Amino acid sequence: MTYSYDDQNIFARILRGEIPNKTVMETEHTLAFHDIRPHAPHHVLVIPKGPYVNYDHFSAEASADEIVDFHRTAAAVCALLGVSPGKGGAGYRAIANSGPDSNQEVPHYHLHILGGRNLGALLPH
Ligand code: 5GP
Repeated sequence: MTYSYDDQNIFARILRGEIPNKTVMETEHTLAFHDIRPHAPHHVLVIPKGPYVNYDHFSAEASADEIVDFHRTAAAVCALLGVSPGKGGAGYRAIANSGPDSNQEVPHYHLHILGGRNLGALLPH
């Protein structure tokens, strides 16, 4: 399986510093920033700095260091937002849209972290 990465996508441009973002956290391999159109009181996007189009691409081809860093950073963002259930928070939802059926808008892998209110059912029926 080969994945085709468009280096002109909006998150690639954010990573190159061509477009501003409201950074929440940054590590060697990962950037977390506020979503420009939040769907909840907390809505943060966590992205790898490497050129991966979606969850399955990242999982298949990223290095172990990138994968560990990504997940540790996502968990640290949840803790920073105060939503981690293991740390007394009220919870959150982590979503990774991947491909056309998910309506993925930006073709650079990203994890949405949503919280700050009850998020209701997973999907509308
Ligand atoms: P997707 O539908 O691909 O899972 O989600 C893409 C997300 O990126 C959307 O929630 C959208 O609001 C967010 N987004 C799109 N363009 C920008 C931007 O320029 N800056 C930021 N911070 N978020 C963006």
